Formats: sequence, C-alpha cells, structure tokens
Amino acid sequence: MRFDRLSTPLGQPYITNIEEVPLYHFYPGASVLVLEIPGCPLRCQYCDRPELAGSASWSPYDPQRLASAMEQLAQDPRFRGIVWGGGEPALHWDNVVENSRVVLDTGMSVIVATNGGLTADLLHDSPGMIDALLVQFKGFSEETYRSRGGPDALLSNSCSLVEKAIESGIHVELMLDVVRDTPAEEAEYLNMLAWINHDLRRNIPLHLRAIAPEHGFAIQHGPSTSFLENLVELARKQHVGFVYLSNCHGHFFNNTMCPNCFSVVIDRTVQPPDLSFVTDGKCAQCGTDLELILNTR
Ligand code: SF4
Repeated sequence: MRFDRLSTPLGQPYITNIEEVPLYHFYPGASVLVLEIPGCPLRCQYCDRPELAGSASWSPYDPQRLASAMEQLAQDPRFRGIVWGGGEPALHWDNVVENSRVVLDTGMSVIVATNGGLTADLLHDSPGMIDALLVQFKGFSEETYRSRGGPDALLSNSCSLVEKAIESGIHVELMLDVVRDTPAEEAEYLNMLAWINHDLRRNIPLHLRAIAPEHGFAIQHGPSTSFLENLVELARKQHVGFVYLSNCHGHFFNNTMCPNCFSVVIDRTVQPPDLSFVTDGKCAQCGTDLELILNTR
C-alpha cells in the first residue's frame, strides 16, 4: 500500500481536488485553490513541511489579486473556492478574514484546515466567514500533544472548536494522524470515537492519516495497513459512520458506504469520484440521507 503525503509544494498557491484536502462530504469532485499560511503551534517529529511550519517570514495575501483569480477560476464549473492551510491559518487570521470576504462575495466557499490554532472564540468573532472546517488532530491525549511540542490545552481547544463549529452550522470533517501501530494509539483512537459518539454526531467524516517513513519522516515504522483497517472496523462496530483511510491511495476504505445498507455510494478509486449511486444526496439503494453537500452548478 502506498501512503500519499496529503501535501504538495511549499508556500505557493495551488489548485487541487477537494479530496486531497481531505474533505469527502463537501462538494465531492470539486477543485479548490489552496492558500498556505506559515508557522505552526506544534513541532511534530514527522512533519512533512518543517520549513513552512517553522517559518516566521510572511507576506500577506492581497484581496484584490485574489478577487481577480476568483473571477478566472470560477469559470470552471468544478471550481468551488479556497482552502486556508499551512502551517496554521489562525496565525494570520486578520489577513485570512480580509481575503475570505472577497471569496464569499463571489459566491464561492471558504474552507479552513487547522491544526488546533483556530479557537472557538476566533470562530465566534468571525461569523459567516467559514463554510467548511477540517480539524486536524495529532492524537487524542494532551500528553501526545505535549510530545509533539503543542502548547497546553490544544486538544481541548480543538474539541471545543469542533463542537462550536457544528453548532454554528459549519460543515466539519476531522482528521487524525496515526503514527505507529501501538495499543496506546488504538486507545487514543477509541477515546476519540467515544467523543464523536457522545458529543458530536456519528455521521461526521473522520480521516485517518497514516504517517509513513517512506516520506522521509523521522520515525522508524509507520502503521501497518492491517492496523489501519482494524481502526476502521472498530469505528463501524461503534456505528461511527464515515471513517476513511484518506492517504492510503486506492484503498477500498476511501469509498463512502451507506451507513444503513452498506452499498458503496461514492467510489473514490476514480477521479473525479463516481457519484452515480447518490440521488439527491441520498443512497440510491435504500434512500438514507447521506448528509452530503453537493455541487449543483
Ligand atoms: S501540525 Fe502539521 S504542520 Fe504543524 S508541525 Fe505537525 S505535521 Fe508539521
């Protein structure tokens, strides 16, 4: 199995498929413009973009230039909007907000991918500014966050952010780094599933990101495919509906299965994904509402 990095050239805006963000339930098959912000509150030993994460140099994005880029990009019916990534978008939040307004004015979407720097308070102070949020978890204990150089309470901040975003009607997907196949990682994952079950909703998409040494990460062994597959099975047993092996390229567990009848409703082994088994956002087989946001352009 080949593990993709879920990352691309450093620092330059680029166009990608929304599945690469990864977002799987928000305009599947769309393309997006990714804008990266340097700096990160964490120092993961396996970071695939240490130059960007450790960088203090920064030149703000220009709203006028972004507006003219939007005008051109919007001519492609697949184009859906921008993704703020990094690094950590919250570190230059004023510039993010200023530029996001321009994008929203064109009717396009604003997506933010955060490592936990974005707080529920910042979100509250920027109403209507985000359409979709990817919250990237580095583990599910404060101890793991500390071992990755994170400041105190980053995990609890991320949990509060997710809860607040859902309350505000923002589309939210989660991502969890899986670094090794150890009982400790499995235990943290089970705690995360329990949080999803008790405090969120079971249909929230969760992307597992396998950290793989073949990408030059400073780790000895990454997780095995069987360990990752077992994590997906554990979620199914707990009725957490949509857990994906998002950087295990071509793996069956990247397909969306109906949580009711288990038919494959979105096939992601092809690009753009095959949505022919979705009818009006529902499973074509049994009619279950899949809670997808679909492109109607
Ligand atoms: S959170 Fe992401 S960008 Fe930041 S140090 Fe860790 S891997 Fe790198």
